[in-house]
Amino acid sequence: MTPPVLRFAPSPTGLLHVGNARTALYNALFARRGGGTFILRYDDTDTARSTPAFAEAIAGDVAWLGIAPDRVEYQSRRLARYDAAVERLKALGRLYPAYESEQELEAMRQSRRRRGLPPVYDRAALKLTDAARAALESDGRRPHWRFKLEGRQVVWDDMVRGRQGVDTATLSDPVLVREDGSYLYTLTSVVDDIEMDVTHVVRGEDHVTNTGVQIEIIAALGGTVPTFGHHNLLTLPSGEGLSKRLGHLSLRALREEGEEALAVAALAVLTGTSLAVEPVAGLDELAAKIDFAKISRAPARFDPAELSALTAATLHHLPFEAVAGRLAALGIGGGEAFWRAVRGNLARLADVADWWRVVEGPVDPVVEPADAAFLAQAAALLPEGPWDNEVYPRWIAAVKPASGRAGRTLFHPLRLALTGRESGPEMKALLPLISREKAAARLRGERA
Ligand code: GLU
Repeated sequence: MTPPVLRFAPSPTGLLHVGNARTALYNALFARRGGGTFILRYDDTDTARSTPAFAEAIAGDVAWLGIAPDRVEYQSRRLARYDAAVERLKALGRLYPAYESEQELEAMRQSRRRRGLPPVYDRAALKLTDAARAALESDGRRPHWRFKLEGRQVVWDDMVRGRQGVDTATLSDPVLVREDGSYLYTLTSVVDDIEMDVTHVVRGEDHVTNTGVQIEIIAALGGTVPTFGHHNLLTLPSGEGLSKRLGHLSLRALREEGEEALAVAALAVLTGTSLAVEPVAGLDELAAKIDFAKISRAPARFDPAELSALTAATLHHLPFEAVAGRLAALGIGGGEAFWRAVRGNLARLADVADWWRVVEGPVDPVVEPADAAFLAQAAALLPEGPWDNEVYPRWIAAVKPASGRAGRTLFHPLRLALTGRESGPEMKALLPLISREKAAARLRGERA
């Protein structure tokens, strides 16, 4: 089998949302699993709405998700290829000029509706004589160019939806070139997919009809039809569709709220499938789970509350190697022992700063008057010898018989004094990280 080639092709007209992340991850992880190539392609031929700033933000968000594209392309830098394809389609008689304004088209659609006809383009432009065209042009009208559909049942085996068919006889001939000469993605995607040898196109089910059209264009250009898969769409909890333009559930916002990229990735990929939503330790684990046949057909709600829980669960199992760089950036030392001690108590990575403070101090110990003597006694019993993982059990083994205390009356005052907090990581893991001097001072009720 030849290695797969997949692409994620966002238009840089807004910030990526979790639904876009779903598409990006299905493509990137499928390519990765198959030892193939993943292309990040900016569909930026709509110069009125695309901006370099959004392209940059998309690159940042994709990197944040943990995806490193093998290749990055900008459609705006590939215009010569589209020019050539357009010439080819014109020569084949598959691209024709049309001159209707948006108002004229709307009037035509309304008139067809009134007559009980489907509101598709009536191909009036195909009937224009050369003289009529010349007259329109000398009036200052510029044409847009439509692809002449064959009007047939286009079928494909969809990786998600099984056998699919689109009857292109029911569709308007799509506009591929605008009046100003700019290209629509319906064309540019096809040209690029052919030229970049894309083997699989995974995208949202809002593109099913496009696929019918695009398979006709691929055939006209003599390309090989890739394998298509159209996944269900994610919605807001209310059921409302996600909008890049309206900034719904943007990756940027989720990141700023402290959600873990790995949790966002897991939820974006696993929601709306028959697979269980559960934390993963890395993207390879997530890639192994992907099964297009397990994606549901109905839209699926993306629940931010579920994401918060998954962020916490992800942190609780996150290996130190996966987080070391971010801990260093937060100015947190302590190494793997610290991370393993505290990760189970985090709801957000930022919470780690609080536990680092418990280790480093200063901590205001909480000492109930009734416990002061007991704590002073415990301080005196802090063991000599190595300050290691066994120091806490050795200490407790001494404090327990000496004080006659057991259970909560033994453990709780020690925790309150040593950490200043009601609850937290296991003291066995925490105490070796707090120095003997600091521990002794806190037990005596001193800020340390
Ligand atoms: N730019 C298109 C979109 O964002 C790409 C669709 C495709 O993957 O072909 O919807």
